[in-house]
Amino acid sequence: MKLFLKDIIHKNKQELEKEQERVEREIKNLEESNEAQYKYNSLQEVEIESRAEDAEIQESNISIRNTLVEHLAQVKHALSRIRKNKYGYCVRCKNPISPQRLAANPATIYCLECAEFIERENEAA
Ligand SMILES: [Zn+2]
Repeated sequence: MKLFLKDIIHKNKQELEKEQERVEREIKNLEESNEAQYKYNSLQEVEIESRAEDAEIQESNISIRNTLVEHLAQVKHALSRIRKNKYGYCVRCKNPISPQRLAANPATIYCLECAEFIERENEAA
């Protein structure tokens, strides 16, 4: 099946908008659950052991949250590129991103070569 950029953009825009909503909701839920846990701990005479466990959970929630925030930024970036008619072009090398890649990964703002390059850089760091 031939993929047309115009169709992909149309479809991806809807997907990205849904994704943005979903991720924003997830972040909010995480923040609320952390806050509730914190309040509960400060009100109750919670045993120290269980507090340590809670601290671990909170820490892992924070790292999940950071991943979500990063992902959300990428989704927003992709949406802003659609609005500016720049979607489908790599932000690093400005070359067109393959339609297959865009269809598989709507939030991507890099072509395959640049994505691999950045990944290698990150691993090296
Ligand atoms: Zn590129």
